[in-house]
Amino acid sequence: MGRLIEGLWDCCHCGTTGIGGSKRECPGCGKPRDENTVFYMGEKKKYVPKMAAKKVNRNPDWVCGYCGSLNSDNSSDCTSCGCTRGGENLDYFENRGKKVQAERAKEATNEDEEESEDAKAESSEQSYGYTSDFDSSVSFGSGGVIPYRDEVTVKPMRKPAMINFKPIAIALAVILLIAGLVYLFIPKEKEVTITSTLWERVITIEEYKTVRENDWSVPHGGRLQYTRQEISHYQNVLDHYETKTRQVAKQRYVGTEEVVTGHRDLGNGYFEEITSSRPVYETYYETETYQDPVYRSEPVYRTKYYYDIERWVYCRSVSTSGNDQSPYWGEVRLAAKERESSRAEQYWITGLDEKEKELKVTLSYSDWSSIRVGQVVRMKVSLGHGELIRDEKTEEVYEQE
Ligand SMILES: [Zn+2]
Ligand SMILES: [Zn+2]
Repeated sequence: MGRLIEGLWDCCHCGTTGIGGSKRECPGCGKPRDENTVFYMGEKKKYVPKMAAKKVNRNPDWVCGYCGSLNSDNSSDCTSCGCTRGGENLDYFENRGKKVQAERAKEATNEDEEESEDAKAESSEQSYGYTSDFDSSVSFGSGGVIPYRDEVTVKPMRKPAMINFKPIAIALAVILLIAGLVYLFIPKEKEVTITSTLWERVITIEEYKTVRENDWSVPHGGRLQYTRQEISHYQNVLDHYETKTRQVAKQRYVGTEEVVTGHRDLGNGYFEEITSSRPVYETYYETETYQDPVYRSEPVYRTKYYYDIERWVYCRSVSTSGNDQSPYWGEVRLAAKERESSRAEQYWITGLDEKEKELKVTLSYSDWSSIRVGQVVRMKVSLGHGELIRDEKTEEVYEQE
């Protein structure tokens, strides 16, 4: 049996509200509660002490057929008029059911009045004396059950905010690095007085000769000299198992707990809690042993072939250079089994910029060959390379008087 709560009722004669369910007569006007009285639970539930609750009759009140007042199941005669209770007397719920039916019938005849379905539902709900706290489908047949609202609220714990400076510092460093790189790549315009011109040309010569190589197989043209077992790669091999322990979370049944799921209207000014039991589990930890495999790294050997083979390899280079403007390629005299492999050329100027700072930059051959020592030219310089700025109309190199 759930805990007992003393309900409330309102007097429909003098308008006094919130009268305790244990009182039969209105403290305002002295009139007894009657067939129009509706019991309800207050916002604050008033629990009846255990000892007192034992003495409370749990049966509904009955309606006096003569004067219409409500009487306790304990009384066999009407407390107001003395009329004896008989088989025809309705109890609180039977009476409420009849009242609701009568209300509905009245509404059906009043359909001419422009009243929407919703409004009707609302008004009939209000006629029970119940507010929106209760479901409109509450039945007064035999002990109305009022659905119980879960009142448990969980407040999340708030963690104090902490600022982590490390990522901010890293982000700043990255931004600075990018800015620095961008600055390096941005061409800077300079006015340069040419002080000298330099050039260098290199011809690379290769020779066809026998070289010693090694590989996991002998290529076409290779002459095998010897073989050797060498480490090709490493692989993980199961060495042994180690016995380790770990904590495993498990659930176990510890019993049941009673939870309040609703309230039952007893129809006598009191309400009773409806409870149901639910299983309770607790989490516990068990130490579990398991086998953890341990691997070792082991080399895998394969046959390595050492062989001789003919290859074109770098032999020598023929370089020419000067600090004039007449570049030329060096004379190439090829011996037997020799060939020219590549030619490379580079052109520089040295000069003084507007701040009398010395600089040395590479130029393209066409830019380099179009300028003279002593000239003042404008150029874009980035990463040690210069590019002349030409006059748009004359295509001439900018020159100052
Ligand atoms: Zn009253
Ligand atoms: Zn009576």
